[in-house]
Amino acid sequence: MVKAECKDYGYDCDFISEGEIDDVVKEFGEHTAKEHGIEYSAETLTKFIVNKNS
Ligand SMILES: [Zn+2]
Repeated sequence: MVKAECKDYGYDCDFISEGEIDDVVKEFGEHTAKEHGIEYSAETLTKFIVNKNS
């Protein structure tokens, strides 16, 4: 289980995604694209989330 918090990316936002890494990458990526207009690559998100949760 891993967790990604939108505020860790510098957004004033309470969104948190938690679960399996692949699901979090997908859900969080969709959130940032939709809500913040920023599309991160799955590779970038995976690295960031792994670093945060290690
Ligand atoms: Zn957000």
